[in-house]
Amino acid sequence: MPVSAPPLEQETNPWTSAEIRFDEAAARLRLDDGICKVLKSASKEITVHIPVQLDDGRIEVFTGYRVQHSIARGPGKGGIRYAPDVTLDEVRALAAWMTWKCAVVNIPFGGAKGGVICDPKLLSDIELERITRRYTAELMDVIGPERDVPAPDVGTNDRVMAWIMDTYSMHVRHATTAVVTGKPMELGGSRGRSEATGRGCMLVTLKALKRFGMEPSSTRVVIQGFGNVGGMAARLMSRAGFKIIAIVEYDAAVYNSNGLDIEKLMAHRTETGSIADFLGAENINKDEGLYLECDVLLPAATENVITSRNADRIRTKILCEGANGPTTAVADHILAEKKIFVIPDILANAGGVTVSYFEWVQDRQGFFWNEQLVNDRLEEIMVASFDAVVGFADKHGVNNRTAAYMLALDRVASAIRTRGIYA
Ligand code: NAD
Repeated sequence: MPVSAPPLEQETNPWTSAEIRFDEAAARLRLDDGICKVLKSASKEITVHIPVQLDDGRIEVFTGYRVQHSIARGPGKGGIRYAPDVTLDEVRALAAWMTWKCAVVNIPFGGAKGGVICDPKLLSDIELERITRRYTAELMDVIGPERDVPAPDVGTNDRVMAWIMDTYSMHVRHATTAVVTGKPMELGGSRGRSEATGRGCMLVTLKALKRFGMEPSSTRVVIQGFGNVGGMAARLMSRAGFKIIAIVEYDAAVYNSNGLDIEKLMAHRTETGSIADFLGAENINKDEGLYLECDVLLPAATENVITSRNADRIRTKILCEGANGPTTAVADHILAEKKIFVIPDILANAGGVTVSYFEWVQDRQGFFWNEQLVNDRLEEIMVASFDAVVGFADKHGVNNRTAAYMLALDRVASAIRTRGIYA
């Protein structure tokens, strides 16, 4: 741990991390103070207290948030998180990240995020539905296809999006599919959405390999998290010939130096409920999985897994951040000293919001694309965005994360300047 490392609690506060990265990029861009003030504050922060009748007849009040960080480039865009540890600071940071992410991939959205403090594991489906409908009703005036378009995040899924779409549609008196993305296919979902984030991770990793003259077949990959992002990335990368040598989950980790059979591992997890004890792999210490020597490390689980306390133990050439905020700002410096090529979250996991954008476009057109078209357009955007970020980093002599932030800040600042300040 570096001598100057702050207390871990402070280091891992997502808002602190977001601010540090913002300040560095803004200083390098020499952004003027006024624009900095605009971009450092969320444009709207809403707190709602939602009364909900539980299945046993009691009434409980849940607290929820929706933060719209910026709507300078288009409607707010960002997921809704249901978790017991949701905080306003976290939602604020995630909303700002969405602004930067949408700007990095140059799609016409601002950034927003929502959350409700609740534990979905302890709630029945009916209770979750009531929370969702009341939360949506409270936000009727701020969400909408032209205003702010939510999507799933930790603890929410396509079913929750269907309830939001239905509640919103009942209030406005017509079916409005474009109010949320990540919906079921029969309600205007997009083909390719569920694989999009994992696919995006693979596409930017392939670009990084090309830069280093590496081939997928000799590339050893370690993935943390075997859920939507990590599982899809594992499946697609394994099909593309990468050697996925380890998968690390919260309860177990498995390793095979010749590469895991991902389809069989998925079937094993479905059958047994865990990745542990998979034939054709050895169980390894889950707390050591991140430190395996590899070519690509893909954290796709939670925030703050690489901090000042463990960054010096990471042994990868390329870090592809599938999760949001897996690396703290202090750890960035340690990874830079180790010359690890970081593909930052606001680029690496932007495939999800990109296909969400496609979903919104298709809903508004009322015309749906085939999967090949979705995947081709996703590839076009991920490849162009990787080139833009890495080109910017090379040109300005900064790391990829700072470059991504600089590119994003510059685009959002330019939109604000062009629109002018409404008075
Ligand atoms: P998910 O819930 O589908 O999967 C997360 C997986 O990580 C689960 O299998 C869980 O068991 C595992 N996990 C949790 N804590 C862990 C730990 N400490 N160590 C190892 N494994 C752990 O969630 P997801 O949708 O795949 O999202 C993962 C991350 O990616 C989050 O940070 C999310 O914000 C980010 N993200 C997701 C999307 C998307 O489209 N789903 C898009 C952009 C970013």
